[in-house]
Amino acid sequence: MTNQKGKLVLYSGSSGVGKGTILQKLRELDPNVCVSVSDTTREPREGEVNGVHYNFVTRKEFTDKIADGGYLEYAEYCHNFYGTPISQLNELLDQGKTVFLEIEVEGALQVMKKYPGILSIFVLPPNFETLERRLRSRGTEDEETVERRLEKAKEEIGCRSRYKHNVINNDLDVAVKEVYDIIHAQ
Ligand code: 5GP
Repeated sequence: MTNQKGKLVLYSGSSGVGKGTILQKLRELDPNVCVSVSDTTREPREGEVNGVHYNFVTRKEFTDKIADGGYLEYAEYCHNFYGTPISQLNELLDQGKTVFLEIEVEGALQVMKKYPGILSIFVLPPNFETLERRLRSRGTEDEETVERRLEKAKEEIGCRSRYKHNVINNDLDVAVKEVYDIIHAQ
């Protein structure tokens, strides 16, 4: 992402770690921060709005867009596809925004390959038990999906050293401040 006014930030962490909540608070502190809305083939959860949380698309729409080169990156995660549309990203960067790509590790590694200098943050739980508790108490997934996501979380945590910064989400306000400091130190 060169010749752009804005800044791109890779932002990952396992399902249930609280990365969305951190980002929500961060946006209150810094209105220039925004999140790229991804395409996904996953079914919407209760309360999720098309075009706000995700663009909910069919597999056919997703694979057509892959063929058109419409994604900066994409990955399959727990049987669903997720991808970052390029067009909207360029618009936001042209506006000078700090754009967070809240994406899983496989897609993040693709972006790191393209842009080796990119700012990257991995959010960790204080321990695995806390992650498991948070994921279950959220109540948005059935047991099989929770198990699958926990397995994936173990795998993803193993990749944390690939990111420039690791932030532990033990105390929400402390984690928000850490992320704020990271993006403003550049
Ligand atoms: P969820 O189904 O919980 O909303 O998301 C599952 C995982 O997919 C999360 O780790 C989330 O950050 C990631 N994700 C969301 N959008 C994208 C995307 O555009 N690309 C990739 N690679 N991962 C994404």
